[in-house]
Amino acid sequence: MSLKGRGAVVTGGGRGIGRAVARALAEEGAAVVVSARSTKEIEAVAAELVAAGHAAHAVTCDVADEASVKTLAEAAAKLLGTVDVLVNNAGIALSNPVKRLPLEEWNRIMAINATGTFLCTRAFIQGMIDRGWGRVINVASVAGLRGGRYIAAYSASKHAQIGFTRALAAEVADQGITVNAICPGYVDTPMTEYSVSRMVEKAGISEEDALEHILALSPQHRLIRPEEIAHVAVMLCGKNGEGISGQAIAIDGGQGIH
Ligand code: NDP
Repeated sequence: MSLKGRGAVVTGGGRGIGRAVARALAEEGAAVVVSARSTKEIEAVAAELVAAGHAAHAVTCDVADEASVKTLAEAAAKLLGTVDVLVNNAGIALSNPVKRLPLEEWNRIMAINATGTFLCTRAFIQGMIDRGWGRVINVASVAGLRGGRYIAAYSASKHAQIGFTRALAAEVADQGITVNAICPGYVDTPMTEYSVSRMVEKAGISEEDALEHILALSPQHRLIRPEEIAHVAVMLCGKNGEGISGQAIAIDGGQGIH
């Protein structure tokens, strides 16, 4: 139980990767605040964790909204005492060719994926500095490491998230705080299900063909499991993760080496 006595906030914790990360941190002994916009989903995750004997709470928050993030920070401080671990996982993925990319879509992706990471981190970093210990984990993407067709806005937002990770890591490196990004390839979550359905709708192909297109990107020809992301998040929070900071860690089945 490497995280006994620690408080953790996981944004986008209502489903997919965030849900798995929240569970893994709770299993390591952390008291967890699970946060997202859909109250029902985060309450279900928190209830699941409490039923398994862990300390967990649900706090509704839109990470793109400064006032909402302030409310999350105040609620988390009350519920957890200290927030030692922040997982900036909330995110959305939309795709469009640049020539048809509406400004509104660009702004929305940047507001949630990039600005949301900044707002949440700013809300919790001072407490970590005061206590001389903290872990910030930003769930970015392989799209933050390179480009791809039709994902300019998503890719730009994830590059921003990784740039933020590197700069903040440098800023707090001597204060007991590590800051890292995890960069998954396609993961088996509702977001990927949505991507498949968009491909079916936009390209007029079958669901099997759309999924095959995604699987073909991975040399392992499979989707990453959310638990694989959670495993690395726990490792980064543990004692032996202390020397890892400012990194963008790809979990993509070797996709990036081809
Ligand atoms: P899901 O769509 O399954 O879950 C996303 C979570 O983020 C939900 O809980 C959602 O809840 C929350 N969220 C979205 N917008 C906001 C917001 N404005 N404020 C607060 N919470 C928000 O996605 P995944 O689990 O697949 O993805 C999690 C992260 O991993 C994302 O950042 C994504 O970009 C990244 N990622 C995912 C990959 C994949 O293949 N699935 C690959 C690489 C990276 P709600 O809508 O209720 O707010």
